[in-house]
Amino acid sequence: MPTERTTSEKIRCDACPVMCYIADGKAGACDRYANHGGDLVRLDPLTIIENAQDGQLVPFMKDGKDPEDWDGDIVQGARPFVTAVGAGTTYPDYKPAPFIVSQDIEGVDMVTVVTEGIFSYCGVKVKIDTDRHIGHERDVVRVDGEPVGHVMTSEYGSKMLSLGGVEHLTGGTKKEGRVTCDALLRLCNREAVEMVIGDDGHETTVIVQAGKAPIINGVEEKLMRVGCGSATIGMFAKQWVDHVDDVVVVDDHITGVLSEHQAGKMLDVEPTGIKINGRRSTPGRYFQVAEPGTGWGGTNIEDPLKILGDFNPRFAREGLSLLMVSTTGEQYGYFELDADLKPQPAAIPAALKVSAELIAENCEPSVCSVLFMGGAGGSLRAGVTENPVRLTKSVKDSLTFVSCGGAEAYVWPGGGITVMVDVMDMPTGSFGYVPTPALVAPIEFTMRVSDYDTLGGHMDEIKPVSDVVSDETRKVDQFENQPNPMASANYRWAKGA
Ligand code: SF4
Repeated sequence: MPTERTTSEKIRCDACPVMCYIADGKAGACDRYANHGGDLVRLDPLTIIENAQDGQLVPFMKDGKDPEDWDGDIVQGARPFVTAVGAGTTYPDYKPAPFIVSQDIEGVDMVTVVTEGIFSYCGVKVKIDTDRHIGHERDVVRVDGEPVGHVMTSEYGSKMLSLGGVEHLTGGTKKEGRVTCDALLRLCNREAVEMVIGDDGHETTVIVQAGKAPIINGVEEKLMRVGCGSATIGMFAKQWVDHVDDVVVVDDHITGVLSEHQAGKMLDVEPTGIKINGRRSTPGRYFQVAEPGTGWGGTNIEDPLKILGDFNPRFAREGLSLLMVSTTGEQYGYFELDADLKPQPAAIPAALKVSAELIAENCEPSVCSVLFMGGAGGSLRAGVTENPVRLTKSVKDSLTFVSCGGAEAYVWPGGGITVMVDVMDMPTGSFGYVPTPALVAPIEFTMRVSDYDTLGGHMDEIKPVSDVVSDETRKVDQFENQPNPMASANYRWAKGA
């Protein structure tokens, strides 16, 4: 354990470069370690995930339930997976990882090396399911006035943020690093973080919380769009053709027009002489019909007629009907042309109202997703093996399975071990921090004992799982969408490769 007695009252923690002196009864700067009567203790319990031997889930002790529920049988016919949550850190990294645990899985000796990595190179990618404009690409994202990241390229129905990273953690002022680290910590631990995107004059306030709907300028988002305007035309054209002459699906990216769209052509929809104020891409698909905003379909308009020019009298006629609808179906309007070929609001026919409701019904709920991303390519690997590059190769060769708090981590191609993981798949409270500043995140490497030996692992440090699991261990169920990290299906050798 990382201790060095200095005075009778204080001990020194060497679990990270801060090297705190901690008085009896007090915690260190990160609140992860404390001095309990002269002993340095990790304050959060080690967390294990209960897996059934046959891969089925075992209803054992739910996250947060009273430990009394546990009957004291350490293994109980199941195969606990020891996560790095609460495991602690060794520093500097040439020391073996805090826990190197072995167990027999279906006749194969497996080992899991667990450590709470200190990540200076880390951040989060945030996906916000909304059409609403929250900022331009490359706009700065601020928390407490400090820059913590930026808006990146939008995805289909979602806005994306890239937050944190070594430039904000270490490359700016001390306050910027501290605020960035705190924002990352809260986001990764599924707490709400309020951020302001953009500069004076076009600021948007967004509250992001993993697994919850975003709150944009004080309004909670409800629905993720069913598709772009063009896709919406394609999906619902059949519902419209018998009830209306033309339909416009208003969308900041691609506004769709039924009478010009290929879907309308296939259904023999006649030209209506409609004119859209925007840049025509292909028939029935228009870009830039308005400015981005928080109005219809992620545009800045509240009156959809603003995107229309004059109807062409060659095709238009008095009484021609028009439905205008947003990509979530939350906004819609029905119009009929008057004698001057100007659209006038009219009572919407029931069938068209139902079609708008059908669009809304086909939208998924809007949520924020937070993916932790960090690089374990540095010296962290030395806690696993004396030959760190062999660990990288072993991961790339599918001989070593990487997980974070038991959740499968996506390992990026190329060099190093750069991982990405959904914080919703990890046990609650998985993340910590140190004031360097850096985020502390759990990471586990699981492989066959024979492969661990081959890559130069710390073989003398291997302990059986029964030595690690105790009645003080926190136990959580495996997430249903997550594989058991120790299951043979994860490994190349089980596939005969
Ligand atoms: S910040 Fe935390 S881990 Fe680092 S030395 Fe202090 S108590 Fe130990």
